[in-house]
Amino acid sequence: MTVAAPASVHPASPGTGARAADILERVRTFVHAEVLPATDHFDTLPPVPTPASVRLAEAGLANWWIPAEYGGPGVSLRDSVDIVSELSYGDAGFAFGSFLSVLGTTMLQLSGADALTRPHLERLARDGGVLGILASEEEAGSELGRITTTCRRAGDSVVVTGDKYFSTNTDAADLLLVVARDAADEADFGVILVPRHTEGVELTQRWNMVGMRGSATYRVALRDCAVPADHRLPGNGLRLLEIGLNASRILIAATAIGMARRVRDLAMEYAASKRVHGAPLARNAVFAGKLGQIEMLIDVMRNQCRSAAEEFDGYLAGGDAAGALYRVGTLRSALAAKMYCGQAGWQVATIGSEMFGGLGYTHEHPIGKLVRDLRYVGLVEGGDDVIRELLFTRYVVPTGKRR
Ligand SMILES: Cc1cc2nc3c(=O)[nH]c(=O)nc-3n(C[C@H](O)[C@H](O)[C@H](O)COP(=O)(O)OP(=O)(O)OC[C@H]3O[C@@H](n4cnc5c(N)ncnc54)[C@H](O)[C@@H]3O)c2cc1C
Repeated sequence: MTVAAPASVHPASPGTGARAADILERVRTFVHAEVLPATDHFDTLPPVPTPASVRLAEAGLANWWIPAEYGGPGVSLRDSVDIVSELSYGDAGFAFGSFLSVLGTTMLQLSGADALTRPHLERLARDGGVLGILASEEEAGSELGRITTTCRRAGDSVVVTGDKYFSTNTDAADLLLVVARDAADEADFGVILVPRHTEGVELTQRWNMVGMRGSATYRVALRDCAVPADHRLPGNGLRLLEIGLNASRILIAATAIGMARRVRDLAMEYAASKRVHGAPLARNAVFAGKLGQIEMLIDVMRNQCRSAAEEFDGYLAGGDAAGALYRVGTLRSALAAKMYCGQAGWQVATIGSEMFGGLGYTHEHPIGKLVRDLRYVGLVEGGDDVIRELLFTRYVVPTGKRR
């Protein structure tokens, strides 16, 4: 079935360099003042919304990417890479919870009637707050074409029914974007805007994750949730999701940069006082080699994230952003950024966890938390097997797309 691209187009307006630089500096200060001193290993899951996310919103720094036409700062994705690197230097879970709504705001910006989407985008820009994105299901796994959550038309309403396995920020969100199969056409999928407190939305479990505990992820049951029929975004839901995933995958990749920078800085602190063969570890050639390797990985991760983000910004700034992104779907550069940063980040985690000897295997040192947090980069929004398959089917099989 061919589905036309959504007609309504609201291009983004990337923020000026000066404004982005100011926000980056304020985020850096915020992280050093508010996030790093709370040397919490999250033995218990933090409350929702987390104290840090409340203070970020109070500081006027939440949802920094929302375009100026909705009252937001309109920072580009390119500059968001550096902001996310700073946030995740403090805590990757906090960073993830803070930027993940970009997946939903991108879909709202590019698809849907302005009267429906504008109030949500303006509220997110004005008050902070988050969106919940409900795509993953237990049985379908990464094959989203097999999801069983349905949306069906009933008079003036659309009714959503199903079970979603993982969804971050859902409890704190005012609005949930639910990906569902059309009950009347099993080849068609929709993205339905479901207010969080709609009757039938039930959070059945908060996951006790091994890492990223500064964010909150849930299992959600949707029991015949009825919303007005115009709450379905125009266009094929899986394609819309792909478009939004470009932005969030690049920023997930960027969290690995911040975590790797933190590992590097912790290693340098440790090596200043640790002695090996009667000399500081910092003067040891093996140590120098490891830190040189980490620096190279950080540099390549940063360059890949920035260049993927610039490509995405280029689409947003173009004449028909929605149409162009609808045609291209998932960007090669975004896939490469997420997979590369997952792998490079894991290399840094391995070097880091070895660096601190037995101390690094205790809860007395932050490296254990960094290792657990770094693992998520290569898992969330597509594990490496899924990303490799996407690269193969979208960019290797069609000979015209090879370069
Ligand atoms: C902290 C966290 C937050 C999350 N937040 C959200 C959220 O807000 N919203 C949301 O919708 N989801 C969310 N998720 C879900 C997340 O995106 C998925 O868990 C992730 O994409 C992996 O999918 P899966 O769990 O279905 O496992 P699968 O991808 O199904 O993987 C299971 C196994 O199948 C293998 N496999 C899968 N596909 C292939 C293939 N094509 N070729 C070969 N092997 C394959 C994998 O390698 C793996 O071994 C979150 C998950 C976590 C951990």
